[in-house]
Amino acid sequence: MEDCIFCKIVKGDFNTEFVYENEHAVVFKDINPKADTHLLVVPRKHVASLNEVEDAEFIGNLMMTVKETCKKIGLKSYKTMINTGKEAGQTVFHLHIHILGGEIKSFDL
Ligand code: 5GP
Ligand code: ZN
Repeated sequence: MEDCIFCKIVKGDFNTEFVYENEHAVVFKDINPKADTHLLVVPRKHVASLNEVEDAEFIGNLMMTVKETCKKIGLKSYKTMINTGKEAGQTVFHLHIHILGGEIKSFDL
């Protein structure tokens, strides 16, 4: 997807530092953090939202990536969130899982 900001980040266009990465996804810090730790798990493959997911293994791999990331950074307690659709607060239409750890400033994400 040419105009997708997360596809560009995945490709390395902005030299974004990846906190963790594997064959399925990259993980980086949210530019506008809403918690002490606020990371985004972003699949390498462009899928607009959870509504477009057809493959259970695909979403399973993303959840395993959440776990692996938190293990790597020593984050034992955290929330995960997926916003699906504009009305639910989705602003970037490339599926991503938020990882929120520590004090959460706002749920209005
Ligand atoms: P959504 O609202 O779609 O669930 O989450 C999108 C998230 O991506 C927001 O929390 C926003 O701060 C973050 N974000 C948007 N653009 C960028 C960017 O260019 N770099 C990073 N690191 N985060 C971004
Ligand atoms: Zn994309």
